[in-house]
Amino acid sequence: MPAIYKEKILDVTHYNEGLFSFKATRNEALKFENGEFVMIGLEVDGVPLLRAYSIVSPNYAEELEFLSIIVPDGPLTSRLKDIRVGDELLVSAKPTGTLLLDHLLPGKNLYLLSTGTGLAPFICLIQDPETYERFDKVIITHGVRIVSDLAYRDFITKALPENEFFGEEVQQKLLYYPTVTREEFDNTGRLTDAMISKKLFDDLDMPEPNKVDDRFMICGGPDMLKQTCEILDGWGFEQSEKRGFQADYVIERAFVER
Ligand SMILES: Cc1cc2nc3c(=O)[nH]c(=O)nc-3n(C[C@H](O)[C@H](O)[C@H](O)COP(=O)(O)OP(=O)(O)OC[C@H]3O[C@@H](n4cnc5c(N)ncnc54)[C@H](O)[C@@H]3O)c2cc1C
Repeated sequence: MPAIYKEKILDVTHYNEGLFSFKATRNEALKFENGEFVMIGLEVDGVPLLRAYSIVSPNYAEELEFLSIIVPDGPLTSRLKDIRVGDELLVSAKPTGTLLLDHLLPGKNLYLLSTGTGLAPFICLIQDPETYERFDKVIITHGVRIVSDLAYRDFITKALPENEFFGEEVQQKLLYYPTVTREEFDNTGRLTDAMISKKLFDDLDMPEPNKVDDRFMICGGPDMLKQTCEILDGWGFEQSEKRGFQADYVIERAFVER
């Protein structure tokens, strides 16, 4: 088992009854690639209770940040939801994952397709200057049930374009497409439906995807992943894991059914 660092909670933000984010100290020895996940958790009855979490904060940040669901009877999140500033967080020393820029072939447009907490790795990647160096347009989508699930909305639309180092690139290249299924909102309905109908691309004023220009990263629940892969496979795109290395798209599970 890899080493486990003991970190301290620095900040907690609750969005609604089922969703919150938090920041923690980062051990200097913890190295990771933007887009990766790591096992984090709490000590329960003297034993580490760990779960996989995508890292929201970029690898140049001093602090670690995570976005979390609250599963009412979930072994970890029913406890993690009560964490306060100063509490201890366990962080495993071995980040890993597939949502890496290096796993994609060069292209013009990068689509970051997420639902729910699947947004987390993409908040990391849109803070990586390399993302804007490699692509002309970066499209971050977020499908959720209710409007208050749209975590990081202000960060994406207000704070990031003002970033002192790469805010200008963000203004020129980053497009944000939030969509909500169970409440009134500017965009409603499922992301996969918006892909099939091509509404997503029309709304964004983007051309229909083609194998030369477009690359995709996908992070969502099992159904969303399955459907999105079927759509992309049907359009002729190839998945990195199936091809062995660089390809047109990569996927990561936002959670597993237990
Ligand atoms: C690669 C990977 C990355 C992950 N990254 C994150 C992350 O950044 N943020 C996060 O909150 N969770 C993430 N998860 C899920 C996380 O590992 C835990 O499952 C989650 O924290 C709940 O833990 P639990 O012990 O409370 O409940 P568990 O026993 O782990 O889960 C109980 C049930 O809750 C549902 N569930 C669990 N997690 C989610 C979720 N995120 N969204 C919707 N339904 C869920 C599933 O139906 C699951 O069967 C990730 C999982 C994987 C495999």
